[in-house]
Amino acid sequence: MLGLMQEHPLLISSLLDFAERHHGDGEIVSRRVEGDIHRTTWAGIARRSRQLANSLESAAVEPSGRVGTIAWNGYRHLELYYGVSGSGRVLHTINPRLHPDQVAWIINHADDQLLCFDLSFLPLVQAVHARCPAVRQWVALCEEDKLPVDSGIPHLLSYEGWIGGASAHYDWPRFDENMASSMCYTSGTTGHPKAALYSHRSTLLHAYAAALPDAMGISSRDAVLPVVPMFHVNAWGIPYAGALTGCKLVFPGPALDGKSVYELIESESVSFAAGVPTVWQMLLEHMDTGGLRFSSLDRTVIGGAACPPSMLRAFKERYGVEVLHGWGMTEMSPLGTVCTLKKKHLDLPMEAQLQILQKQGRGLFGVEMKIVDAQGSELPWDGQARGDLLVKGPWVVQEYFKGDGGAPLVPDAQGRGWFPTGDVATIDADGYLQITDRSKDVIKSGGEWISSIDIENIAMAHPAVAMAACIGVPHPKWDERPIIVVVTRRGAQLTKAKLLEFYKGKAVARWQIPDDVIFVESIPLGATGKMLKTQLREQLKEHRLADRQAEVTTNG
Ligand code: ADP
Repeated sequence: MLGLMQEHPLLISSLLDFAERHHGDGEIVSRRVEGDIHRTTWAGIARRSRQLANSLESAAVEPSGRVGTIAWNGYRHLELYYGVSGSGRVLHTINPRLHPDQVAWIINHADDQLLCFDLSFLPLVQAVHARCPAVRQWVALCEEDKLPVDSGIPHLLSYEGWIGGASAHYDWPRFDENMASSMCYTSGTTGHPKAALYSHRSTLLHAYAAALPDAMGISSRDAVLPVVPMFHVNAWGIPYAGALTGCKLVFPGPALDGKSVYELIESESVSFAAGVPTVWQMLLEHMDTGGLRFSSLDRTVIGGAACPPSMLRAFKERYGVEVLHGWGMTEMSPLGTVCTLKKKHLDLPMEAQLQILQKQGRGLFGVEMKIVDAQGSELPWDGQARGDLLVKGPWVVQEYFKGDGGAPLVPDAQGRGWFPTGDVATIDADGYLQITDRSKDVIKSGGEWISSIDIENIAMAHPAVAMAACIGVPHPKWDERPIIVVVTRRGAQLTKAKLLEFYKGKAVARWQIPDDVIFVESIPLGATGKMLKTQLREQLKEHRLADRQAEVTTNG
């Protein structure tokens, strides 16, 4: 017997309709590429998204046609999120930090028909446009009078000129909630990038889950600052969760340095912010140097890469800000886990609570997880057994766009497909996930695994260390030994001996302590602000450890 409830497709346009009706005066504040602060409301976003939808009709972008964006976080990008997907087209957010060759490849692979870009990315568009013949129209996200002359891009339009004359009346079409809504390519550190193709249904379910109290806990009383980019993994779903909850949204535009982010947090009374550790490191440095305080910020979700425990402590102990450590990936829309305490933990001493909060957290409803050994047998949730992490759920990819990379899912005994995350993890009896490494970053010394994240976390706790990456280098006896590559804080003094001394007495076996410390000016970062260990390994592939040194450390 079927239930007798209304059939109502979960469509992205319904989020916008809801936002307009229920919190139409909710604020959307953006720092623009132009440098000024722009203010609008959900009602304004809804009106202009309809104008955009009409403009897409006029431009004859077909249903499910791809519309690319190369843009910072801002209100125009938000309109594209809703106007493109809401009208049945597919929003393709492009990461501008990728190499131009990769950007051109991605635009062509996605078959983008129209592409909107912020003016700061004009040089990138100039470098790629001639290689992207399928793009019928390039649109600069600016006023008509800011349109660059002699850009070399044929028929370039300004976004404001393009949508400005269009009608604000538009009936959002109703269609199957499983239709594609948006897409995002992985960083493609090895081989060509592959795209996750999200649906309206997956996006709405993810938005519900993202806003839950044990996830990001976003409400209409929050002012939310997504520093995490809208050009990659949907800014962790915040543009959608914002419409769902009616929170104020504050967009940082291109200004992601510590000073600009701090000023925006203070001037817009931001209560909740989201970003990757490298960006938060810049913010903390700015705060520490200037002796500054937050007057409104009370929570921040940190993810995309492991949040060093020292960062969690700095936010909590020095600035009274709760850190929610989160884990996810492009293929998961992206949220998988967020770390919040259970009721039974609230009576634990602060130190014990911090131990839990360092983990990547508990799976959200909608994300099933398991860890398996090399034979694919499931491992226990005891916080000790370490294995390959597999996930499944309604916002996890089934396959990549155009079938790239073949069928990624691993079937279980019941024939249900699990997505292999490429991460290695433990899960404890309370369901808290802890990522120990990406499988390709695991260091194997004498047959034993060393977690590069554990080794980095200890280095990051040293007051003189600004950034640390642990990688394995070849060793004749032990196959691989860990070394730590370090960037020191401005003006700080640190020696190799002092840092190695710092490892003593910490939660690490002696044979896991790095054999060498290499001081560098900077560590290469990938397109999503994560440390590029592949590049570091390449740079240091000739690095040889003194045999005796490894011997002493390993056997000591
Ligand atoms: P990419 O495009 O680089 O694959 P993703 O954003 O999809 O970018 O990266 C997902 C990966 O990032 C995860 O598989 C995991 O290795 C890493 N990651 C994300 N969040 C965390 C975290 N909190 N701790 C450790 N690693 C993380």
